[in-house]
Amino acid sequence: MSRVAYVNGRYVPHREASVHVEDRGYQFADGLYEVVAVRGGLPVDFALHYDRLCTGLAALQITNPLQRAAWIVVLRQMIQRNRVRDGILYLQVTRGVSPRNHLFPHGVMPSVVVTARPGSGPSAESISVGVSAVSVADIRWRRRDIKSVSLLPNILAKQQAAEQGAYEALLVAPDGTVTEAGSSNAWMVNASGEILTHPVGHDILPGVTRMVLIRLARAAGYTVVERSFTLEEAKAAREVFVSSTIAYVMPIVSVDGVKIGEGVPGPLALALRTLYVGHVAGITPAVAWS
Ligand code: PLP
Repeated sequence: MSRVAYVNGRYVPHREASVHVEDRGYQFADGLYEVVAVRGGLPVDFALHYDRLCTGLAALQITNPLQRAAWIVVLRQMIQRNRVRDGILYLQVTRGVSPRNHLFPHGVMPSVVVTARPGSGPSAESISVGVSAVSVADIRWRRRDIKSVSLLPNILAKQQAAEQGAYEALLVAPDGTVTEAGSSNAWMVNASGEILTHPVGHDILPGVTRMVLIRLARAAGYTVVERSFTLEEAKAAREVFVSSTIAYVMPIVSVDGVKIGEGVPGPLALALRTLYVGHVAGITPAVAWS
Protein backbone atom coordinates (compact mmCIF):
# COMPACT_ATOMS: atom_id res chain seq x y z
CA MET A 1 0.00 0.00 0.00
CA SER A 2 1.41 3.43 -0.89
CA ARG A 3 1.72 6.08 1.78
CA VAL A 4 -0.01 9.42 1.60
CA ALA A 5 1.16 12.77 3.01
CA TYR A 6 -0.88 15.91 3.65
CA VAL A 7 0.79 19.08 2.38
CA ASN A 8 -0.96 22.43 2.48
CA GLY A 9 -4.48 21.21 1.82
CA ARG A 10 -3.67 18.29 -0.47
CA TYR A 11 -3.28 14.57 0.08
CA VAL A 12 -0.35 13.52 -2.11
CA PRO A 13 1.69 10.36 -2.60
CA HIS A 14 4.33 10.35 0.13
CA ARG A 15 7.22 9.97 -2.30
CA GLU A 16 6.11 13.12 -4.14
CA ALA A 17 5.38 15.21 -1.04
CA SER A 18 7.52 18.35 -0.97
CA VAL A 19 7.62 21.93 0.25
CA HIS A 20 8.97 25.07 -1.39
CA VAL A 21 12.70 25.85 -1.08
CA GLU A 22 11.76 29.14 0.58
CA ASP A 23 9.59 27.54 3.22
CA ARG A 24 10.75 29.18 6.45
CA GLY A 25 10.79 25.81 8.17
CA TYR A 26 13.38 24.65 5.66
CA GLN A 27 15.48 27.82 5.73
CA PHE A 28 15.17 29.02 9.33
CA ALA A 29 13.64 26.12 11.30
CA ASP A 30 10.84 28.65 11.82
CA GLY A 31 8.16 26.18 12.80
CA LEU A 32 6.78 23.62 15.20
CA TYR A 33 5.90 19.96 15.22
CA GLU A 34 4.02 17.34 17.18
CA VAL A 35 4.26 13.57 17.26
CA VAL A 36 1.04 11.83 18.29
CA ALA A 37 0.91 8.09 18.93
CA VAL A 38 -1.82 6.10 17.19
CA ARG A 39 -3.08 2.95 18.91
CA GLY A 40 -5.91 0.86 17.53
CA GLY A 41 -6.43 3.52 14.88
CA LEU A 42 -7.02 6.24 17.49
CA PRO A 43 -4.77 9.10 18.60
CA VAL A 44 -3.32 8.97 22.11
CA ASP A 45 -3.99 12.17 24.07
CA PHE A 46 -4.79 14.22 20.99
CA ALA A 47 -6.18 17.09 23.10
CA LEU A 48 -2.94 17.49 25.05
CA HIS A 49 -0.81 17.48 21.89
CA TYR A 50 -3.15 19.93 20.23
CA ASP A 51 -3.03 22.27 23.24
CA ARG A 52 0.78 22.20 23.19
CA LEU A 53 0.78 22.95 19.46
CA CYS A 54 -1.55 25.93 20.00
CA THR A 55 0.59 27.23 22.88
CA GLY A 56 3.73 26.99 20.73
CA LEU A 57 2.08 28.68 17.76
CA ALA A 58 0.97 31.55 19.99
CA ALA A 59 4.49 31.87 21.46
CA LEU A 60 5.93 32.17 17.94
CA GLN A 61 3.08 34.39 16.68
CA ILE A 62 2.20 31.90 13.95
CA THR A 63 -1.51 31.84 13.14
CA ASN A 64 -3.02 28.38 13.48
CA PRO A 65 -3.77 27.62 9.83
CA LEU A 66 -6.60 25.17 10.58
CA GLN A 67 -9.54 25.16 12.97
CA ARG A 68 -9.47 22.34 15.52
CA ALA A 69 -12.27 20.52 13.67
CA ALA A 70 -10.33 20.77 10.41
CA TRP A 71 -7.21 19.36 12.08
CA ILE A 72 -9.28 16.43 13.27
CA VAL A 73 -10.60 15.80 9.75
CA VAL A 74 -7.06 15.81 8.34
CA LEU A 75 -5.63 13.58 11.06
CA ARG A 76 -8.48 11.07 10.78
CA GLN A 77 -8.00 11.01 7.03
CA MET A 78 -4.27 10.43 7.44
CA ILE A 79 -4.83 7.50 9.79
CA GLN A 80 -7.36 5.98 7.40
CA ARG A 81 -5.57 6.66 4.13
CA ASN A 82 -2.32 5.24 5.51
CA ARG A 83 -4.15 2.39 7.29
CA VAL A 84 -2.31 3.04 10.51
CA ARG A 85 -3.54 0.94 13.41
CA ASP A 86 -0.46 1.38 15.59
CA GLY A 87 2.06 4.05 14.69
CA ILE A 88 2.50 7.80 14.74
CA LEU A 89 1.13 10.98 13.25
CA TYR A 90 3.69 13.73 12.56
CA LEU A 91 2.31 17.29 12.33
CA GLN A 92 4.39 20.27 11.29
CA VAL A 93 3.44 23.93 10.99
CA THR A 94 5.90 26.53 9.71
CA ARG A 95 5.55 30.26 9.22
CA GLY A 96 5.13 29.66 5.50
CA VAL A 97 6.84 30.44 2.22
CA SER A 98 8.40 33.85 1.65
CA PRO A 99 11.60 35.33 0.15
CA ARG A 100 14.39 34.78 2.66
CA ASN A 101 14.37 37.52 5.29
CA HIS A 102 14.69 37.15 9.05
CA LEU A 103 11.66 39.36 9.74
CA PHE A 104 8.18 37.82 9.84
CA PRO A 105 6.53 38.00 6.41
CA HIS A 106 3.08 39.62 6.18
CA GLY A 107 0.01 37.98 4.74
CA VAL A 108 1.64 34.56 4.34
CA MET A 109 -0.28 31.37 5.12
CA PRO A 110 1.59 29.01 7.45
CA SER A 111 2.58 25.69 5.86
CA VAL A 112 1.13 22.45 7.16
CA VAL A 113 2.57 18.99 6.67
CA VAL A 114 1.17 15.80 8.19
CA THR A 115 2.59 12.32 7.75
CA ALA A 116 1.52 9.03 9.29
CA ARG A 117 3.36 5.78 9.59
CA PRO A 118 2.97 2.44 11.31
CA GLY A 119 5.31 1.38 14.09
CA SER A 120 5.05 -0.11 17.52
CA GLY A 121 7.75 1.62 19.58
CA PRO A 122 10.67 -0.04 21.35
CA SER A 123 10.91 -3.83 21.39
CA ALA A 124 9.59 -5.80 24.34
CA GLU A 125 13.12 -7.05 24.83
CA SER A 126 14.62 -3.57 25.25
CA ILE A 127 11.98 -2.79 27.85
CA SER A 128 12.56 -6.02 29.76
CA VAL A 129 16.34 -5.58 29.95
CA GLY A 130 16.47 -1.76 29.94
CA VAL A 131 18.76 0.51 27.96
CA SER A 132 21.78 2.68 28.65
CA ALA A 133 22.24 6.45 28.55
CA VAL A 134 25.21 8.78 28.46
CA SER A 135 25.40 12.38 29.65
CA VAL A 136 25.78 15.15 27.08
CA ALA A 137 26.00 18.90 27.67
CA ASP A 138 22.66 20.61 27.08
CA ILE A 139 23.59 23.24 24.49
CA ARG A 140 20.03 24.12 23.43
CA TRP A 141 18.39 27.54 23.42
CA ARG A 142 16.45 28.78 26.45
CA ARG A 143 12.91 28.08 25.19
CA ARG A 144 12.92 24.31 25.21
CA ASP A 145 9.22 24.38 26.09
CA ILE A 146 8.53 25.31 22.46
CA LYS A 147 8.47 22.17 20.31
CA SER A 148 10.51 23.78 17.56
CA VAL A 149 11.61 21.85 14.47
CA SER A 150 15.11 23.11 15.25
CA LEU A 151 16.42 19.85 16.70
CA LEU A 152 20.11 20.14 15.85
CA PRO A 153 21.39 19.97 19.46
CA ASN A 154 19.11 16.99 20.12
CA ILE A 155 20.36 15.28 16.98
CA LEU A 156 23.98 15.82 17.97
CA ALA A 157 23.31 14.55 21.47
CA LYS A 158 21.49 11.43 20.29
CA GLN A 159 24.14 10.74 17.67
CA GLN A 160 26.84 11.01 20.32
CA ALA A 161 24.88 8.61 22.53
CA ALA A 162 24.44 6.14 19.67
CA GLU A 163 28.14 6.28 18.84
CA GLN A 164 28.83 5.38 22.46
CA GLY A 165 26.43 2.45 22.18
CA ALA A 166 23.72 4.15 24.25
CA TYR A 167 19.98 4.53 23.59
CA GLU A 168 19.54 8.03 25.01
CA ALA A 169 21.46 11.16 25.93
CA LEU A 170 20.76 12.72 29.33
CA LEU A 171 21.11 16.46 28.75
CA VAL A 172 23.02 18.21 31.50
CA ALA A 173 22.85 21.96 32.20
CA PRO A 174 25.98 23.90 33.24
CA ASP A 175 24.89 23.64 36.91
CA GLY A 176 24.96 19.83 36.69
CA THR A 177 21.18 19.30 36.59
CA VAL A 178 19.65 16.86 34.13
CA THR A 179 17.08 18.85 32.18
CA GLU A 180 15.64 16.03 30.09
CA ALA A 181 16.90 13.67 27.39
CA GLY A 182 17.55 13.86 23.64
CA SER A 183 14.00 12.95 22.70
CA SER A 184 12.31 12.22 26.02
CA ASN A 185 11.77 13.51 29.55
CA ALA A 186 14.04 12.20 32.30
CA TRP A 187 13.01 10.74 35.66
CA MET A 188 14.69 9.17 38.68
CA VAL A 189 13.63 7.43 41.87
CA ASN A 190 15.53 8.46 45.00
CA ALA A 191 16.40 6.43 48.09
CA SER A 192 13.10 7.45 49.72
CA GLY A 193 11.13 6.06 46.79
CA GLU A 194 10.12 9.50 45.53
CA ILE A 195 9.81 9.85 41.77
CA LEU A 196 11.55 13.03 40.58
CA THR A 197 11.31 14.82 37.26
CA HIS A 198 12.34 18.32 36.18
CA PRO A 199 9.60 20.95 36.65
CA VAL A 200 8.03 22.45 33.55
CA GLY A 201 9.08 25.95 32.49
CA HIS A 202 11.42 27.16 29.78
CA ASP A 203 14.09 24.51 30.48
CA ILE A 204 12.31 21.39 29.21
CA LEU A 205 9.67 20.29 26.77
CA PRO A 206 6.43 19.74 28.73
CA GLY A 207 6.07 16.16 27.55
CA VAL A 208 2.55 14.91 27.12
CA THR A 209 3.60 11.48 28.36
CA ARG A 210 5.26 13.13 31.36
CA MET A 211 2.06 14.99 32.22
CA VAL A 212 -0.13 11.91 31.93
CA LEU A 213 2.34 9.79 33.91
CA ILE A 214 2.40 12.28 36.77
CA ARG A 215 -1.39 12.15 36.95
CA LEU A 216 -1.52 8.34 36.75
CA ALA A 217 1.29 7.87 39.27
CA ARG A 218 -0.26 10.21 41.83
CA ALA A 219 -3.67 8.61 41.39
CA ALA A 220 -2.03 5.25 42.09
CA GLY A 221 -0.52 6.59 45.32
CA TYR A 222 3.07 7.19 44.23
CA THR A 223 4.90 10.34 45.29
CA VAL A 224 5.98 12.42 42.33
CA VAL A 225 8.08 15.51 43.01
CA GLU A 226 8.62 17.97 40.17
CA ARG A 227 12.13 19.09 41.00
CA SER A 228 15.36 18.99 39.10
CA PHE A 229 18.06 16.46 39.96
CA THR A 230 21.74 16.37 39.16
CA LEU A 231 23.66 13.89 37.07
CA GLU A 232 25.34 12.70 40.28
CA GLU A 233 21.96 12.08 41.90
CA ALA A 234 20.84 10.17 38.81
CA LYS A 235 23.90 7.93 38.95
CA ALA A 236 23.19 7.15 42.61
CA ALA A 237 19.44 6.71 42.03
CA ARG A 238 17.44 3.57 42.64
CA GLU A 239 15.96 3.93 39.19
CA VAL A 240 16.27 6.15 36.14
CA PHE A 241 13.85 6.15 33.22
CA VAL A 242 12.72 8.31 30.33
CA SER A 243 9.26 8.95 28.88
CA SER A 244 7.98 9.90 25.44
CA THR A 245 5.11 9.46 23.03
CA ILE A 246 7.06 6.84 21.12
CA ALA A 247 8.71 4.89 23.95
CA TYR A 248 6.10 5.42 26.71
CA VAL A 249 8.34 4.59 29.71
CA MET A 250 11.83 3.25 29.03
CA PRO A 251 13.99 2.02 31.94
CA ILE A 252 17.61 3.23 31.93
CA VAL A 253 19.92 0.71 33.57
CA SER A 254 23.24 2.52 33.19
CA VAL A 255 24.39 6.13 32.86
CA ASP A 256 27.91 6.83 31.59
CA GLY A 257 28.67 3.17 32.29
CA VAL A 258 27.55 3.46 35.93
CA LYS A 259 25.02 0.78 36.87
CA ILE A 260 21.70 2.18 38.12
CA GLY A 261 20.25 0.26 41.06
CA GLU A 262 20.64 -3.44 40.34
CA GLY A 263 21.32 -2.77 36.67
CA VAL A 264 17.88 -4.03 35.67
CA PRO A 265 14.61 -2.16 35.00
CA GLY A 266 13.25 -0.87 38.29
CA PRO A 267 9.83 -1.71 39.73
CA LEU A 268 8.52 1.86 39.59
CA ALA A 269 9.49 2.36 35.97
CA LEU A 270 7.72 -0.88 35.08
CA ALA A 271 4.71 0.01 37.23
CA LEU A 272 4.37 3.40 35.53
CA ARG A 273 4.73 1.75 32.16
CA THR A 274 1.90 -0.63 33.02
CA LEU A 275 -0.28 2.27 34.15
CA TYR A 276 0.45 4.10 30.91
CA VAL A 277 -0.31 1.05 28.76
CA GLY A 278 -3.62 0.79 30.62
CA HIS A 279 -4.30 4.47 29.95
CA VAL A 280 -3.68 3.97 26.22
CA ALA A 281 -5.85 0.85 26.14
CA GLY A 282 -8.67 2.84 27.70
CA ILE A 283 -8.89 5.36 24.85
CA THR A 284 -12.18 4.79 23.04
CA PRO A 285 -13.51 6.23 19.77
CA ALA A 286 -15.92 8.34 21.82
CA VAL A 287 -13.16 10.22 23.68
CA ALA A 288 -10.14 9.99 21.36
CA TRP A 289 -10.73 13.27 19.51
CA SER A 290 -12.31 15.28 22.30
N1 PLP B 1 11.72 16.05 25.53
C1 PLP B 1 12.14 16.13 24.26
C2 PLP B 1 13.37 16.92 23.98
C3 PLP B 1 11.46 15.48 23.22
O1 PLP B 1 11.91 15.58 21.95
C4 PLP B 1 10.32 14.70 23.53
C5 PLP B 1 9.57 14.01 22.49
O2 PLP B 1 9.80 14.16 21.33
C6 PLP B 1 9.92 14.63 24.86
C7 PLP B 1 10.62 15.32 25.84
C8 PLP B 1 8.71 13.82 25.26
O3 PLP B 1 7.52 14.50 24.92
P1 PLP B 1 6.20 13.70 24.64
O4 PLP B 1 5.92 12.87 25.86
O5 PLP B 1 5.17 14.75 24.43
O6 PLP B 1 6.44 12.85 23.44
